[in-house]
Formats: sequence, C-alpha cells, structure tokens
Amino acid sequence: MKYNNINEFVTELKIFLKEEQVILDKENLFHYCYDATEMRFMPDVAVLPVNTEEVSKIMKLAYENDIPVTPQGGRTGLSGGALPVKGGVVLSLLRMNRILEIDKKNMQIVIEPGVIAADLQKELNEHNLFFPPDPSSTVESTLGGNVAENAGYTRAVKYGVTRDYVLGLEAVLPNGDIIHVGGRTLKNVTGYDLVSLLIGSEGTLAVVTKIICKVLPKPMFRRTCIFYLDDLIAAADLVASVFESGITPCAIEFMDNYSINCVGDYLSGMEFLRRDAAVLVLIEVDGNHRGATDEEAHRILESGSTQKGVIESRLAKSDEEADKLWRIRRETLPALKAKGKDHLEADVVVPRYQLSFLARAIKESETDKMVKVATFGHAGDGNLHVTIQYRKRNFSELEEANELLGEIYRKTVEMGGKLTGEHGVGLTVKNYMWLQMSPVEIALMKRIKQAFDPKGLLNPEKIFPDEETENPAG
Ligand SMILES: Cc1cc2nc3c(=O)[nH]c(=O)nc-3n(C[C@H](O)[C@H](O)[C@H](O)COP(=O)(O)OP(=O)(O)OC[C@H]3O[C@@H](n4cnc5c(N)ncnc54)[C@H](O)[C@@H]3O)c2cc1C
Repeated sequence: MKYNNINEFVTELKIFLKEEQVILDKENLFHYCYDATEMRFMPDVAVLPVNTEEVSKIMKLAYENDIPVTPQGGRTGLSGGALPVKGGVVLSLLRMNRILEIDKKNMQIVIEPGVIAADLQKELNEHNLFFPPDPSSTVESTLGGNVAENAGYTRAVKYGVTRDYVLGLEAVLPNGDIIHVGGRTLKNVTGYDLVSLLIGSEGTLAVVTKIICKVLPKPMFRRTCIFYLDDLIAAADLVASVFESGITPCAIEFMDNYSINCVGDYLSGMEFLRRDAAVLVLIEVDGNHRGATDEEAHRILESGSTQKGVIESRLAKSDEEADKLWRIRRETLPALKAKGKDHLEADVVVPRYQLSFLARAIKESETDKMVKVATFGHAGDGNLHVTIQYRKRNFSELEEANELLGEIYRKTVEMGGKLTGEHGVGLTVKNYMWLQMSPVEIALMKRIKQAFDPKGLLNPEKIFPDEETENPAG
C-alpha cells in the first residue's frame, strides 16, 4: 500500500482536532510504536480522539486518503495487534475513558473503550459489583483492547470470557459510518450476531467506541489452596478430580518447575514457594456464603492432599495469605522477562485434561536444546502460556526457538487444541493459521474482512497469513 498524502491528511485533521490531539514529533510518536511484544513499528501520526464523532471523522478522512489506521488501547497486547505495521495512523482510544453509566437496576454498565480495566474494577467495587473479565494486565489494558482480543483471565473457568459479558457495542467502520450492534437486552436473536463478530476481531473490522456490559454482584468470600506435585500428569488428575467432585472453582492455575524457580529468583522472601516441585497448582473458590465457600475449599484440600503425586498442600488462612500465594502466579511473566533473554511466547489452549500432557510434550521437546522453556497458565480452562527463552544474537538458538514454537503449535492442534486462547492472532500467530483453519475457512474470513473494510485499511497485516505462506496443501 502506498500513500503520499499524509501531510494533506494531517492538515485536514487539525481542522477538527486540537493541536495536542495530533502527535507528529518522533519523540512522542515513539510511545505509540510498541506493545508488550518486542516489536516496533513507527506510525506517521498518532491521533487521540475524545468522542465517537471525532473517531468517525478521522476514519472517513483516512479512508478517503487511503491511509492505514491501527486502533490502540493500553498496548499490553502479546500478539502485536496494536502495532502500525504499515505506518499511517495510530488511533489511540486512551482519552475516551469515561464510565458513562452504572445501571444497578439492570446490572449493566456503559463505558468508553479507553477505560482502564483496573479503574473499572475500582469503581464497581464501590457499588459491590464486579466485571469478571479482568486480565492480569488490568492496570494498563483497556476495555476496548479487552473486547477486541476477547480477553480471558484467571476466573474464566467459572465466569466465562469477555464475550460472555458484552451485550452491545457502538463502533465506527473503516469508512467512518457509526453502527450500534446489540444493546441493553439480555436476549437478542435479531439477525446475525454482529456483537460476537466484533468481539475478538482484533481491531480489524471496526473501531469500538462504546461498550454495554453485564456486571455481577461481587462475591463476598474466597478461599485459596496451593498444591505442589512431583509429576506433571498427576496435576491433570488433580484438576479433573475437582470438577468430578461437583465443585466449580473460580480459578485453577498451573506453573511448571522452571516458572516456579524463575519466580523464586525474582522475588525475595517467598515463604510458600517450593522450588523442588515439578508443578504448582493454585485453586480458588468463591461465593456469597462463608460456610459453603469454606466447605468447598476444605473438600478440595482434603481430597487433593491424598491424590497421587501431591507432595505438599496448603489452604490459605486469610485473604492476605491468599494474596501471597497469588503473587507467585501473578509475577510469573515479569519473573521470566527479568531473566533478560529474548523470548517467543505461545498462548495455546487444549481441552482441559490435555493441558499437562501438552506441558509434558513441550518439556520433552526441550531436552537437548539450548533454549529454556517455561509453561504456566490457566489449568481450569486448558489455556497454557509458553515462554521460550533464547539469545537472539545466537543464530542456532533463534532457529531452535522458532522450530520449537512450530512444534508446539502442531502438537496443540493434534491434541484438538487452538493456536491462541486469549492473546489473539495479531502478527505473531498469523503464519501458523493454516495449521488450524482450512483454506475455505480462511477465505470466508477474508470475505468478512472485505465486507467491513473493502480497502483493507483498518489494522492491515493482522490475522491473515502472509501470501507466501498460503496454500500449504498445494
Ligand atoms: C503482564 C501481562 C499480562 C497479561 N494478562 C492477560 C490475561 O490475563 N488475559 C488476557 O486475555 N490477556 C492478557 N494479556 C494480554 C493483553 O493485556 C490483552 O490482550 C489485552 O486485552 C490488551 O488490551 P490493550 O488495551 O492493551 O490493547 P492493545 O494492546 O492496545 O490492543 C490489542 C488489540 O486490540 C485492538 N484494539 C484496541 N482498542 C480497540 C478499540 N477500541 N476498537 C477496536 N480495536 C481495538 C488493537 O488494534 C489490537 O489489535 C497480558 C499482557 C501482559 C503484558
């Protein structure tokens, strides 16, 4: 795509935007060129609209001038979705950050896309409400980004993912048209489900400018147990036994030995950390009745402690102690990053019982390799995060890391899994799409993209595999 009219475009932008809403100088533009991956792409201009009308005018103007637009929220994405690969405009939604309505009668909220997830939780907390989909990136990620990625989180096993809470969206199409899909009703089967289509579309179909969501009463009690095991597969059986007992925990998290040790190296004074364990499994239950919540936690602890492979178990005595246990899991990604190596990430998802088998297969593939691999994630819903650490300057390690990543994706699909559970396809997964989707399915998705964005200007180069990787079958 070639465009040479950026100066004209900027001049026209400044007719309806204030000077400080249009970022052009290199130093400030740098803030919009990266996300949580290590990739960088410079935009030509970043714009900071404050309302839907401004978004619509910007989109229309970009469309008329054939200029690519990349929507951006908190830039915590782990698949490169918010990176302006083709330059052009970064459309940052960070200034559209108002909570417009908390409707307690209908248990709904109306918010702008730039609301930071943690700010929303804080506000809802004041009303004894909560919005379950709260990713670990909560202090920086935006609700627009979470909708665009259909974000998951530790409690998805009980409460579902972002899609399960969004009832309606206002969005701006690439040509500037404003649409309203879904709404405030809990049921709606009028026509195709465009709300669901936009959720998880990674900013490639439309720019989300308003979100209507369901909220829930905040659960009053929680209890947290930790289990250390000497065997990966024993962890699969432990998790299965909890569900078979009729309990649905709100979170079941998993960390392998390497992840446990990275956290041990990163944080000091971790009194409940057991470095010799092959696996850590963290289980939390919640509810509104103290006795029932306690009873479930004790049942999990008692039956779990007698399971094969369990070498230590503990029920947190207080919420403070539970927070300490959670800290081990929450600090995993920062602890892995602190190792200072380059890394490739995968966010694969398999049927729940398969998670430990996938982790074991990955461990076996790592044997005899120079790269180090950490597996951790959401054992309750089969979503395994994998970090492959390597040294970029060492060509053999880079090659090994890439080979291993491909192997992980292939194994995942063989086990009936999917390439990404919550981080999205973006740039990092797109060239593996053929492993999971047939040419007919990819062609169908392309026609949907074409219907929304005939000029291919909105968030280009994302999701769809590059031309040279296409048609592996022939
Ligand atoms: C430490 C850490 C922990 C994480 N934990 C989790 C986790 O628990 N669960 C999880 O699911 N993810 C997690 N992530 C990944 C990331 O936080 C999520 O993908 C999040 O939803 C991205 O939100 P964002 O506002 O940062 O979006 P960005 O990174 O800015 O953008 C992500 C995508 O959304 C699009 N987009 C943003 N705003 C809009 C909009 N208004 N309209 C249309 N498209 C838009 C962008 O174009 C891009 O494709 C984590 C990341 C980090 C760094």
